[in-house]
Amino acid sequence: MSDAMVATRASDERGTAQQVDVAVVGAGFAGLYLLHRLRKAGFSAVGLEEAGDVGGTWYWNRYPGARCDIQTIDYSYTFDPELEAAWTWSEKYATQPEILRYLGFVADRYDLRRDIRFKTRVTEARWDEASERWFITTDNGAPVSCRHYIMATGCLSAPKPPEIDGVKDFKGEVYFTGRWPHDGVNLAGKRVAVIGTGSSAIQSIPLIAEQAAHLTVFQRTPNFALPAHNGPPPSDRMSLLQSDRATYRAQARQSMAGVPYPQQTVVSWQLSDAERRERFERAWAAGDLVHILTQLWADQAVDVDGNKIVQDLIREKIRAAVKDPETAAALTPHDHPFGAKRPCLDTNYYATYNRPNVTLVNLRQEPIKAITASGISTNGRSFALDVIVFATGFDAMTGAIRAVHPITGRDGKSLSDVWAQGPQTYLGLTVAGFPNFFMITGPGSPSVLSNMAVSIEQHVDWVVDRLAALRDAGFTTIEPTETAQAGWGRHMADCSMLTLHRLANTWYTGANVPGKVQGLMPYTGGVGPYRSICDEVVSRGMLGFRLTGPDGAAQCNDGEVVRLQPDVRLVLNLLATLNLPPIESMGAEGARAFVNEFNKGRPAGRPIGEIVDGTLPGADGPLPYRVYKPATAGPHPVVVYFHGGGWVLGDEQSDEPFCRDMVRRTGMMFVSVGYRHAPEHRFPTAAEDGYAATRWIAEHAAELGGRPGPVLVAGWSAGGNIAAVTCQLARDRGGPDIAGQLLVCPVTDCSFDRPSYNDNATGYFLTRSLMYWFWDLYCSPADRTDPRVSPLRGKVENLPPAFVVTCEFDPLRDEGVAYAEAMAAAGVPVEQLRARGHFHSSFTMVDVVITGVSGRVQMAGALRRFAGLPPEISRGESNQEHDSPGRRIAAAAS
Ligand code: FAD
Ligand code: NAP
Repeated sequence: MSDAMVATRASDERGTAQQVDVAVVGAGFAGLYLLHRLRKAGFSAVGLEEAGDVGGTWYWNRYPGARCDIQTIDYSYTFDPELEAAWTWSEKYATQPEILRYLGFVADRYDLRRDIRFKTRVTEARWDEASERWFITTDNGAPVSCRHYIMATGCLSAPKPPEIDGVKDFKGEVYFTGRWPHDGVNLAGKRVAVIGTGSSAIQSIPLIAEQAAHLTVFQRTPNFALPAHNGPPPSDRMSLLQSDRATYRAQARQSMAGVPYPQQTVVSWQLSDAERRERFERAWAAGDLVHILTQLWADQAVDVDGNKIVQDLIREKIRAAVKDPETAAALTPHDHPFGAKRPCLDTNYYATYNRPNVTLVNLRQEPIKAITASGISTNGRSFALDVIVFATGFDAMTGAIRAVHPITGRDGKSLSDVWAQGPQTYLGLTVAGFPNFFMITGPGSPSVLSNMAVSIEQHVDWVVDRLAALRDAGFTTIEPTETAQAGWGRHMADCSMLTLHRLANTWYTGANVPGKVQGLMPYTGGVGPYRSICDEVVSRGMLGFRLTGPDGAAQCNDGEVVRLQPDVRLVLNLLATLNLPPIESMGAEGARAFVNEFNKGRPAGRPIGEIVDGTLPGADGPLPYRVYKPATAGPHPVVVYFHGGGWVLGDEQSDEPFCRDMVRRTGMMFVSVGYRHAPEHRFPTAAEDGYAATRWIAEHAAELGGRPGPVLVAGWSAGGNIAAVTCQLARDRGGPDIAGQLLVCPVTDCSFDRPSYNDNATGYFLTRSLMYWFWDLYCSPADRTDPRVSPLRGKVENLPPAFVVTCEFDPLRDEGVAYAEAMAAAGVPVEQLRARGHFHSSFTMVDVVITGVSGRVQMAGALRRFAGLPPEISRGESNQEHDSPGRRIAAAAS
């Protein structure tokens, strides 16, 4: 449809519409940069902004003490080195007026205001299928007709309503921190209430206390706050930036939170108390949120134990700062992990409660009953007030988007309906069914869990680059597919299992707004990984997007961009960057040396009761073994364990982290067997050693400190093969009694023609060619159908109950499934874990692939059931206080 026809159509409906290529809603950090980039890319654009000027957050939030909580040298635009050179921040954390001045400076420098319609709120938006344009209604002036509609409306721009009865009856003054009057508020000599103790309150309370006759703080949930130690920008960070600005900015873009700090690899339990305290004190003195959230120890954000140590150290600080113990106790956070809710940076916050004119009211003990004409009544008391300040926060992430209602996409669908069960997006940028619609820092992107300046620039660059590419290719619409969007939802959920955010009720999850659907809205996988995913979407031909153009032109490369578990993806990316030679090219000795070296760098696993080495008589001479014992009193059921390594690599110690972890989770004893390897000892040596060792261990269980009676067998990869074969041999050779078998990614057959061998031939560490090599070294082609190496070809009746684990991205996946199914068909009790998004090593990379934890929990439960124990380990049997969800991926880098 021609532009003239579009104009006619638009004006017919609602008066003459302003015609532009792109409408941008919002004139904060995001909207301003968008307008600049769009203009440079040759698009006509209009900005629509409810406020009277630019600034967004920094226009509205003028309460006393408002500042940024990311150091200002990081919380700045980086797209133009000349802009960076032209502006100097005066403080480590700039005040709201200074940030607002900066955004005004940016608007002037690029002459942006001329394209912005201020005091103009967007009220509705409708996609017109025929013209392939959005029609946007405002509360002030002409509607807008545009090809693309971009909401740069902010994650924290829709203040929450008061939700407390009687506000209208109050005869005094009422203020919202998020809508603070421009000409200031005189609080001198007044009786002031602040409701809320989030960041806005924590920044404003000390300053309000200095002015007011009396300040009463109404606290529902205490928050962690850290001293900002504000002042001039710190010299160490400044010199880092100034010595190599480009690298500093590049590192920020690749970092987890948008500020360049290194990944920590040391986990809390590897440090002594003194070392942990030293790190903590250094972080406390730094006065930097990103520092304390990322630099203490690698497990602080992913592990409840690692996190609790930080919590306790901060609690000590609160007790030291607040004189009245009852007030200190009330101010001490107790219901969420540190960092799971946004912590606050403060200046004199806790000390303010030592002032005689400040009272803390703990709403958990005495909830607010009502706001009356003269003040606030709680269950126990009445507070006479002149001023009430609501520091009660925002309908975050989705509030401003949903406030434009309806946003009607394809087939008349409203965004509110599509999001009825929570926001669904692809990349946090787009929504299926809503063509040419974009959100900057929308739900599903790192946004509020990052330095927003970095995330905003990344989104703006990605969107404008895509619009330019779309135009240049002659397409007129772009829209994500349902497949891609559903995949992103799964990836979001997988990521959320990695961190502790899911354990707190916060505005990140929508818990602060009554009736809002709950779910973690920001992307928790990190800024750098997220950026690489967005880039991958482009490099894979706009994966997950449908593009259309005139005369039926269309392109759709459907699919999910991330099918791996997030930590598996990081590990594989890391391995790819190491550019290692193929293991099979190293020769057996070289490969063994490589594996030994590789294993030295990995986390060793948490302490267990005892580790004892010994030798046992194998099929043909002594074999080494290593016993891993729980810390609890025995005797424990015995699991005979066979390590992985393609019958060629590894030894009784090489799967130590896995053995330790399983001992902790099962409360059982693992005896790992050092069976002999190929090529020195070819088939059937490993199988016969495995069987002989199992027999000996069963007969000597009591001597080893284990429970006499049936043993269990377990193994990973080639070790899974030996475990499976051992069960068949034990059945056929009159024992020993085996109570159950755990087969983790086992080799079960010599055929290479199953789909998983093709689908996962390369790229997932265990490759098809590596498997060829293992087979060649171990077993001649004539022997390969022997059930002692291809148990799938043996008799599978009357075997012990089995738990079979297979991983989606593993060449061995299908033969593992086939073996499980064959046993089940033959009447063997079989449970399967088909691990989505995992690779061959997911479960043995303990403390590296954190998402492997739930699988190991299931494996442990199965072993316990096989041994006749209740599936859940009891406190008394456990030597771990909590079920540890593992360690940070960073450990992989070691
Ligand atoms: P905003 O700045 O929120 O701008 C969105 C604009 O859209 C607003 O001006 C709003 O009026 C307008 N708008 C919304 N809906 C409509 C509509 N329907 N019609 C017309 N206009 C509309 N992040 C950090 O990374 N570091 C910090 O230190 C930090 N400090 C913060 C301090 C406070 C007090 C708050 C509230 C947030 C803070 N944030 C911080 C988050 C902050 O919101 C972002 O850093 C950033 O300012 C967001 O920019 P934006 O342009 O995306 O959105
Ligand atoms: P917030 O973190 O959501 O805090 C709101 C506070 O009000 C909470 O203590 C909340 O208690 C309380 N509250 C809400 N409704 C209430 C009710 N009906 N009755 C009693 N108490 C109620 O909001 P915010 O302080 O405005 O901060 C929001 C986000 O903006 C921050 O997390 C941060 O990302 C950003 N911000 C940053 C800075 C900065 O330092 N740069 C400053 C301000 C804001 P519950 O916890 O029990 O819900």
